[in-house]
Amino acid sequence: MSRPRISKKDREFVKEQANFTCEYCLLHQEDAFFTFHIDHIISLKHGGSNSRENFCLACLYCNLNKGSNVGTVLPPGDRFLPLYHPRKQRWSDHFSIEDILIKPLSEIGEATIKVLDFNHEDRLRERELLLKLGRYPSKESLVYLQNQVKTLIK
Ligand SMILES: [Zn+2]
Repeated sequence: MSRPRISKKDREFVKEQANFTCEYCLLHQEDAFFTFHIDHIISLKHGGSNSRENFCLACLYCNLNKGSNVGTVLPPGDRFLPLYHPRKQRWSDHFSIEDILIKPLSEIGEATIKVLDFNHEDRLRERELLLKLGRYPSKESLVYLQNQVKTLIK
């Protein structure tokens, strides 16, 4: 299946809207070695659209771990839970930052942390370094969090 290209205009829009922050783990583009990706929140495979309402900015780790996943199964009882949706949900309702760990505040948060592997040891090492430099969370990411509520789809 050929993937329709995301227009340059849409890419720029998504990056600005995210204030160049990964909308999942809050890493800032300036602090990352790899260029961030435009993520289809609901993958095309699962019927997601190629529209701004379905795009977010994601760092390489979040994007690769997420792949085409839209959710996961959590105990008890193997319940299916969707992943966090940055255009419909507030980050701060689902996650909190404690030192270098990203902790869940909801089951959606728990599902997302699991699939995107937010607290993988390599990522914790990177965050530890950024924390020492005063770059985690970065001031840009905090601005993003403050403004996120204005960007949510009602
Ligand atoms: Zn990320």
